[in-house]
Amino acid sequence: MSDTPRTLLLTGASRGIGHATVKLFQENGWRVLTVSRHAFSEECRWPGARWGHIQADLADLDALPRLVDEVRERIAGGPLHALVNNAGISPKGPGGTRLGVAQTDARAWTHVLNVNLISTALLARALLPELEAARGAIVNVTSIAGSRVHPFAGVAYAASKAGLASLTREFAHEFGPRGVRANAIAPGEIRTAILSPGTDDLVRDNVPLGRLGEAREVAETIHFLCSEASAYINGAEIHINGGQHV
Ligand code: NAD
Repeated sequence: MSDTPRTLLLTGASRGIGHATVKLFQENGWRVLTVSRHAFSEECRWPGARWGHIQADLADLDALPRLVDEVRERIAGGPLHALVNNAGISPKGPGGTRLGVAQTDARAWTHVLNVNLISTALLARALLPELEAARGAIVNVTSIAGSRVHPFAGVAYAASKAGLASLTREFAHEFGPRGVRANAIAPGEIRTAILSPGTDDLVRDNVPLGRLGEAREVAETIHFLCSEASAYINGAEIHINGGQHV
């Protein structure tokens, strides 16, 4: 294998799981380009002039071609070894309440689906040539809420994550013959800002390992799925939830 660093594009990098993933990949010698709504926090900055952070709102699908142009510029026409679609939103009602079908209007559906699902499909579609050039890997971050009703996850969030799991299988089927693998990771209750009050009780009652997961533990699996060690894994969805799904 050559000594040229491998390249990662990751969405939703400013905090939580994305932030931990950036750090882990960098520790492993990857060059990392990130996309999120916010400016990147100081402690996450890294050396490397051509690489860095792009501030963009993935809800704005019309702006995606501009984002893709900027990505291409930053990687200077080079290959992309991994695309991690991690950005996600989980809107809550007043006082952190769950948004059910009755509380979710057309606008709210569109916003959640654009960020959590449709932007992922469009980004992968646009960057397929760069991924193909690297025989790269895609990792989509789904959720335990995509496969069962979750007490804190809203209906649009849950449907978006179920859709993302399905999209992952479609990617695996369509891109596999072109040498690009696609897998999903489905976190349970991970210690980040997205958690709801009441999670401690849920963990006590439903997670066999009896604790929250750490963002770093999720990052390790993402890294595995982007590495040669997982070369024959395609179309999988890996649960990272301490056994909550059983
Ligand atoms: P987080 O809220 O800390 O991070 C979400 C990231 O997405 C942020 O960097 C934010 O800037 C970015 N983002 C949100 N909307 C965006 C937009 N419109 N445009 C660009 N970027 C945007 O949450 P997290 O817990 O680190 O979540 C990361 C992923 O993991 C999400 O997809 C989430 O659904 C999923 N997840 C998290 C948990 C958990 O317990 N924390 C559980 C299951 C799934």
